[in-house]
Amino acid sequence: LKKELEVIGIDNLMTGRIENISNFISNQKFDFIEHDICKPIKIKSNINFILHFASPASPFDYLKFPIETLEIGSKGTENALKLALEKNSIILVASTSEVYGDPLEHPQKETYYGNVNPIGPRGVYDEAKRYLEAITMAYHKKYNLNTKIVRIFNTYGENMRLNDGRAIPNFINQALNNLDFTVFGDGSQTRSFTYIDDTIMGIYKLLMSTYNYPVNIGNPHEYTVNELIHEIKKIIPTTSKLSYHKLPENDPLVRKPDITLAKKILKWEPKIKLEIGLLKTINYFKNLK
Ligand code: UDP
Repeated sequence: LKKELEVIGIDNLMTGRIENISNFISNQKFDFIEHDICKPIKIKSNINFILHFASPASPFDYLKFPIETLEIGSKGTENALKLALEKNSIILVASTSEVYGDPLEHPQKETYYGNVNPIGPRGVYDEAKRYLEAITMAYHKKYNLNTKIVRIFNTYGENMRLNDGRAIPNFINQALNNLDFTVFGDGSQTRSFTYIDDTIMGIYKLLMSTYNYPVNIGNPHEYTVNELIHEIKKIIPTTSKLSYHKLPENDPLVRKPDITLAKKILKWEPKIKLEIGLLKTINYFKNLK
């Protein structure tokens, strides 16, 4: 919208919230359609770009909606690709670092095939996104469709739901309310957290590029869960203590993107340090209260 483009947003609001787009709803160049993209859709106007992001993304959500998660990755992606074919538009689809599963290669390069348990609890998300990549490449190869695949690593920032179940909103909520931090496992598992603005810029650059294969977009700065809590405690004075719980099945022990490819072809790398991104996110959650 800042670039004066006309934008249509489509969402069935299963995990999203209409308040997140309240700033644009009155914008003449913005249209919102409440629709489940697993069902076919007709759009009258021409479309230059399609960005297909629809899916639950928090483990908490996709464990609650396992079938819907598989359907959106399969039927939903197929409908988005068909629309792109009909409109002759460029299409970018959102994949995930979860395609690498519990990785045996560290950090993860785009060439790594991953270590995924298809029948484990996370399989519903991981395999949905692996199918999304497979069918997207098939449309690219068979129909010469101009496709892009972004593999998004853990992203955080304003507009997340405080109770969406992921580490950053959970720990912020717990710190603000002096509730004990729910650490899964011993907290030594790692993640690499990217602030939303960095992720968006990476995605935008990929959309504008001529590259058709998957690209990692993530921050290579790796933190253990314990270190993440430490960073949050530096910003929020709290009496919360660490309380340890069982590590969920197939929870990846490590995760860190190799972003050599994004640096080379997109001239992109993340700029926002965790402490700055956390500060912005914490201020957002504080103001909600
Ligand atoms: N985690 C945790 N306590 C929580 C939420 C998450 O220890 O209350 C851990 C989780 O087990 C995982 C990491 O934090 O190892 C990141 O979890 P998240 O749900 O944010 O995303 P994931 O990377 O697993 O998709």
